[in-house]
Amino acid sequence: MRTRLEPPNRCTKTVCVRVESARRLTSIGIRTGRHRYLALMAFLVVCTTVAATEPLRLEEVVEGVHVYTGPHEDATPGNLGAIGNAGVVIGRDSVAVIDTGGSPEFGRRLRASIAALTDLPVAWVIITHAHPDHVFGSSAFDEDGISFVGHRKLARALATRSPFYLDAFKRLVGPAFDGARVIAPSMEVSAETRIDLGDRALVLTAWRTAHTDNDLTVLDVRTGTLFAGDLVFVDRLPVVDGSLKGWLEVISELRRLPASHVVPGHGPASVPWPGALDSQERYLRALLRDVRREIAGGGRIESAIGRVAPEERDRWIAFDENHPRNVIASFTELEWE
Ligand SMILES: [Zn+2]
Repeated sequence: MRTRLEPPNRCTKTVCVRVESARRLTSIGIRTGRHRYLALMAFLVVCTTVAATEPLRLEEVVEGVHVYTGPHEDATPGNLGAIGNAGVVIGRDSVAVIDTGGSPEFGRRLRASIAALTDLPVAWVIITHAHPDHVFGSSAFDEDGISFVGHRKLARALATRSPFYLDAFKRLVGPAFDGARVIAPSMEVSAETRIDLGDRALVLTAWRTAHTDNDLTVLDVRTGTLFAGDLVFVDRLPVVDGSLKGWLEVISELRRLPASHVVPGHGPASVPWPGALDSQERYLRALLRDVRREIAGGGRIESAIGRVAPEERDRWIAFDENHPRNVIASFTELEWE
């Protein structure tokens, strides 16, 4: 039996080397009957890498606004760690990227996909917050002429968390994560800032501690598109990594933004505004109510988990994975209020 590996259509040098190596190893493994495991592993690595060379699917949700929709999965080699949404806004003179996904390979593919849409240069990379599924494609854009923009607390969050994130995502994402590094913002937002892509203003707003302590939103004024980062989750359970009370306050303020639709950090590419906030606010209010009740009753964190907002369980993706940590985080936050 002959096993044949065809080179990928869009062949990068790295991929070609891997294809050739795997072809040799597979051939040796099959001929000699030895090293079958090695041959199989090499084949799987190539399959994963070849799949990763396919173009990203960017959806134009409104004129000049393109969105990559991350899958509701954990970070894996197959999804390149890009499990959150990423956005692209094209102005008259330049392009802004909002979040860069979870690996350098995703960043490269995002950049290639943008090049297929427009000849205009990417001038801005805007990071909505420091979580690894939103930042680790940034190295693909690290060059003169491209400004990195984030909340004034983004740099500190990246510095504090990145050793853990780099280690975790390297294990989860595999070769696509090679070369990942942290890029600190070259421009920091303290309250509100406007940038112009040429006849196209983006309003960047830095928020108080909510999903994290470094959440930034982007409003495309022309189309009323709000890129909310993880201040808005749709379908997938929100994760509290900042402040539950702060997040509920921020939600009230977000509602007043003059947006017509939102690109959530996790969820569909475009959701009507402000209705997109309703389910998330209901869950967070239930979390606040029930955790306060548990604390008042002298309950312990471990036993509280099953009694807090159980009615929400069937309404969310990843509830069992993320709800316990939300209860623990909220318990800690509310214990001494
Ligand atoms: Zn996040």
